[in-house]
Amino acid sequence: MCLSILLSPTGKEPSLLGTPKSVLILGGTKEAMDLAERLVARGNMRVATSLAGRTHAPETPAGETRIGGFGGAEGLAACMRKEGIDLVVDATHPFAVTISENAAQAVAQSDATLLSLQRPAWRPVAGDNWQSVASLQDACKAIPGNACVFLALGRQHIDAFAERTDVRFLVRMVDRPDTPLPFRSSELVIGKPSPDPQREAQLLKAHNVTLIICRNSGGSGAYAKIAAARRLSIPVIMVERPAEPAGKLFTTVDELMAAID
Ligand code: NAP
Repeated sequence: MCLSILLSPTGKEPSLLGTPKSVLILGGTKEAMDLAERLVARGNMRVATSLAGRTHAPETPAGETRIGGFGGAEGLAACMRKEGIDLVVDATHPFAVTISENAAQAVAQSDATLLSLQRPAWRPVAGDNWQSVASLQDACKAIPGNACVFLALGRQHIDAFAERTDVRFLVRMVDRPDTPLPFRSSELVIGKPSPDPQREAQLLKAHNVTLIICRNSGGSGAYAKIAAARRLSIPVIMVERPAEPAGKLFTTVDELMAAID
């Protein structure tokens, strides 16, 4: 699947603008949305955003949009060649490792430039009690017996904790899952994370949570639970990010915009 099946904002087949700069943003994040909007506003380059297609009705970025996998690094490289992409911005989520590796491999086969855009990781501040681990498996091993653990993780990540039949889990999901949770003892809360630390603290207290496990996603959207944990002196097992992406790394859209002519 390549840019020739792009969806234009008008729903019409987009024209290839033939500008010297043709930018492919690997998206799926708020930062990618912001970047697309600002590059399109410049009006001097073709801007296309690629989404993995995980979300049923994704918010549509400014410019052109394509949806679905490329078919690995080779597929991405072929797409770049076909569409004359001369700049790839990897603005995917910090834990989306495969697409970032594919981008590095694909760009290495081309004359294009690769830049990366990733929000800064959270850092502990006074009052935080974090244990940093490298993987979900390490997080699982680090849970003390008889804990009540808030697993602040997506559905696709919680199976790694099923072996801990000696602890109780609290899981929050936006939508009710199709299959039962894989735990001996657990509670399910349906809802989105609150941006308000007070509300997150109420949730933690109501369920007698003694430990939080989350990934170091960074950003403000999911930070309230960390602030709530600090307030309640609840320890956090923080699954740290995988290796940084390959392209020159920018942590804000402003910095990246300044780096693009
Ligand atoms: P991933 O494991 O790194 O990628 C798996 C495969 O999904 C890739 O090999 C690629 O398929 C396809 N893919 C991923 N991102 C794509 C994109 N932007 N455009 C086209 N294809 C893409 O990725 P993931 O962790 O499943 O995340 C999928 C998407 O959700 C990413 O775009 C990411 O920005 C967003 N997201 C992820 C998280 C997270 O926690 N991982 C959180 C929020 C948003 P092919 O090999 O076929 O090209």
